[in-house]
Amino acid sequence: MKKGKVILVGAGPGDPELLTLKAVRWLQRADVVIVDRLVSREALQEYTREDVLIVPVGKQCSDEASTPQSVINNLLVEHAQQGRLVVRLKGGDVSLFSNVLDELKTLTDHQVEYEIVPGVTAALGAAAYAGIPLTARGYSTAVRMLTYYKRDLVNADYLQDLARTDDTLVFYMSSGNLDALVERLVGHGITDDKWIAIVEQATTPQQRVHHYPVKEYLTAAAGSSYASPTLVIIGKVAALHASFGWMPNSRSNEHYFTPLSVASTNLFIKNSPIC
Ligand code: SAH
Repeated sequence: MKKGKVILVGAGPGDPELLTLKAVRWLQRADVVIVDRLVSREALQEYTREDVLIVPVGKQCSDEASTPQSVINNLLVEHAQQGRLVVRLKGGDVSLFSNVLDELKTLTDHQVEYEIVPGVTAALGAAAYAGIPLTARGYSTAVRMLTYYKRDLVNADYLQDLARTDDTLVFYMSSGNLDALVERLVGHGITDDKWIAIVEQATTPQQRVHHYPVKEYLTAAAGSSYASPTLVIIGKVAALHASFGWMPNSRSNEHYFTPLSVASTNLFIKNSPIC
């Protein structure tokens, strides 16, 4: 039997033209694509074979039901052991805020061959499409990629450091806790020249950017909720959006990353919540 293989591929943040050539070439060859929610439907439809098996995993339905990681691991191994070329397609880059380590361990445990293809991570996509150079000279000399989806991920000392550093801070998965984050940064003395840019559905036609001086955020926007996915950029550079943002804010309230459903053409759904 032909030897199977798994290719772990970053699909970029949304715009299907942000996939790498390598990602597209693997997708064109794939027998099976195991795909997260934050991946462009267009890319899937455009770059895969007619007879591909597409398996949506991750948070698919409105109740945010998620395919357990063990199920995803098993799918990778089972398909590869049957001699198939499996693309594991993840949003953004493979290595940032994803469960890739779990998947790598499973693949090595089962001696399944694999390759890793990087992707444009949300921070870089959002920064480019919002006109925010992350390390603009004179503004910042470093970028930190962080998350604040749980308060206890960041202790008080580290928070103080975040409030005082001139590094640009990019927060993934954190818009739900934004008020608390800003409150703590302000409490730790963040300065007047720091801005916050909130980028909803970055790089998609539904992109919207909201920006404020950090210290004015709570007065202007406390309690706001944002369309998923949302990325938060904090630092002096976030002020540059006003001068260099080039993409108009979308006026639509649509969601770009809709759940994959059985109604979609050429999609087969297995072992995953069906919406
Ligand atoms: N591996 C991904 C990140 C996965 S965590 C990457 O490298 O980008 C998921 C989080 O990424 C979301 O909660 C959001 O904070 C961010 N994200 C992903 N795609 C995004 C997009 N198009 N716009 C804004 N934020 C995005």
